[in-house]
Amino acid sequence: MIGAIRRWLDRRTIARSCISDQSWQEAFAELPVLDRLDKDERKRLMDLAILFLDRKVIKGVNGVTITESIRLIIALQACLPILKLGIRCYRNWVTVVVYPAGFVANHVEYDELGLVRQSMSHRLGEAWVRGPVVLSLADTRIAGKLDGSNLVIHEFAHKLDMQNGRANGFPPLHRGMSRRQWTDVFSAAFSDHQSRCQRGQPVDIDCYGATSPAEFFAVISEVFFEQSGVIEEHYPDVLELLIRYYRQNPKQATLHEFFPGEKNE
Ligand SMILES: [Zn+2]
Repeated sequence: MIGAIRRWLDRRTIARSCISDQSWQEAFAELPVLDRLDKDERKRLMDLAILFLDRKVIKGVNGVTITESIRLIIALQACLPILKLGIRCYRNWVTVVVYPAGFVANHVEYDELGLVRQSMSHRLGEAWVRGPVVLSLADTRIAGKLDGSNLVIHEFAHKLDMQNGRANGFPPLHRGMSRRQWTDVFSAAFSDHQSRCQRGQPVDIDCYGATSPAEFFAVISEVFFEQSGVIEEHYPDVLELLIRYYRQNPKQATLHEFFPGEKNE
């Protein structure tokens, strides 16, 4: 019953959207990462983007004015990872904060003794547990270029990972997926990536992914949507799990109902 009401509300929100065809076309034209989608998938992505924009507040800071074009560029990229997963994966938080470019983040952490540790670092984006996603506009605009690097997908992969707590590279898996297999496959790939980066011989995957399992999942998700052939070549087991997790295969047409028995856990 609740599900039926929710779907009815979603359909109503989508029907009431007044985003013009031209605005959609211009946004898609800026994002080659979406070129592989067929007509039905584009429509599905647009519907998700409308729901995303209805539920999230996108806020510019430090002089950024949020235009419809910026809203669409963010929403379309943010919804690509959930094309087959649904908008509910992004529940329990509201705000996307947009800086003009990279920003300095001031982090306060408490260690096991309760002592405060403060650190400053330069960032292009951030995702907080149950909190905002923060994006650099300059990097968001160039994100969808199929070069294996995509800031928006990176930050929203963290959000998917955070559905079951802190980001740790272990998002909630679908029914039928083995937690043990995920841990074994991702741990082996992460450790290989780390040692390649330490030796100065990385494959075409950003060494930022070697800093933690959470960053590895986010970085390899960027590569998955933009250059999945790199993962196929070096980490085919990871590719297989990402296809099952995202229910999409960027090298082929999206998997329509490929795993009908699997549901989010
Ligand atoms: Zn990250």
